[in-house]
Amino acid sequence: MIDRAFLPYARQLVEDDDVAAVVEALRSDYLTTGPRVPAFEEALAREVGAEWAVAVSNGTAALYAACAAAGVKEGDEVIVPAITFVATANCARLLGAEPVFADVDPDTGLVVPESVAGLITGRTRAVMAVHLGGAVADVAALAAITGPRGITLIEDAAHALGARGPAGAVGSCAGGSRMATFSFHPVKQITTGEGGAVTGNDPLLLRHLRLFREHGIQRSPELFWRDPDGPWYYEQGALGHNLRLTDLQAALGTSQLAKLGRFIARRKALAERYDRLLEGVPGVKPVIGPAGRAGAAWHLYQVLIDYEGLGHSRGEVVLRLRERGIGTQVHYIPLPLQPYYWNRGAVSTACPGSLEFYRRTLSLPLFPAMADSDVDRVVEALAGILGRQDTGKEMS
Ligand SMILES: *Cc1c(COP(=O)(O)O)cnc(C)c1O
Repeated sequence: MIDRAFLPYARQLVEDDDVAAVVEALRSDYLTTGPRVPAFEEALAREVGAEWAVAVSNGTAALYAACAAAGVKEGDEVIVPAITFVATANCARLLGAEPVFADVDPDTGLVVPESVAGLITGRTRAVMAVHLGGAVADVAALAAITGPRGITLIEDAAHALGARGPAGAVGSCAGGSRMATFSFHPVKQITTGEGGAVTGNDPLLLRHLRLFREHGIQRSPELFWRDPDGPWYYEQGALGHNLRLTDLQAALGTSQLAKLGRFIARRKALAERYDRLLEGVPGVKPVIGPAGRAGAAWHLYQVLIDYEGLGHSRGEVVLRLRERGIGTQVHYIPLPLQPYYWNRGAVSTACPGSLEFYRRTLSLPLFPAMADSDVDRVVEALAGILGRQDTGKEMS
């Protein structure tokens, strides 16, 4: 085996000017609640074409705050695709509501609108759309289901900063959603270490989100219940948290956001290289097909592998790739298979598309600092492992 640095499935790209921006913030008067957070919010809103953005401490907090602003509460149901990160469903539970799992397309992993339509009840308060891997889900079809019924459509766009759908940039909420949420975890398109944001256009939702982020505390006199008894006066009129992003993180966010176009162009070029090279590997096909490629933000490079037909187990393929210094990941284990949710009555066989997607999917390394030769090395290793009948020996 050639001794080369381990290639993870994802990794941040932090450059010298990003570091300088954080150092400058560190030497400034504000480490938190200073001017860098609103500057980052404005830049993000502009980037996605939304009226406003509210920065919060992580992507999970963004989902939680968005659900709270949508009025999700005990006794409500929130429809969530069966293939997503656990946080997309957990935000409903954290507010006392119950997630109900919709099925996904077995080839794209994206939610099937008809499945969502079949799950609507009088208790449905919100529907979550997930842009898996950075491919854009069918927001228009979901909005046609939620809009007439007064159900709030929220886009979990943690994978999709920089993606474009038929209605425009993801995050603009121009396609009929009320809010979109983002994550700035190091594996995502840009990073603030931990960080997240909600974007949208409705000023009432903006007010709810800001209150929820800051203990429910209000400082705008026109919204006070009582007359201020002094210049120190503020009011807590609702219950909230501290879900703030710091100025240090916002400095990094603004610096990273300016590079989004370059980062996505690099992700796209690497994905196209994978597409080309994988054409020569039988039994392997990219999840994002020709239809989804144009506007995708390429958070992940996922493939579907016919493990059974090729006579290999996924576990063995993952271990052999790891032996060759290549990291992979599986996005995701269907949520109804998680003990927390099957203990609450979720039934995985109700989402057969999610089980079929899960059985075949694998995420290969993809991040902007990767070299073209890294892609070549991954495809060569994968082809070698899948093409070999005897799984006991190394060939290279
Ligand atoms: C990353 C991610 C989140 C959560 O974001 P954090 O910043 O890690 O809290 C939510 N949903 C999806 C689909 C994600 O990939």
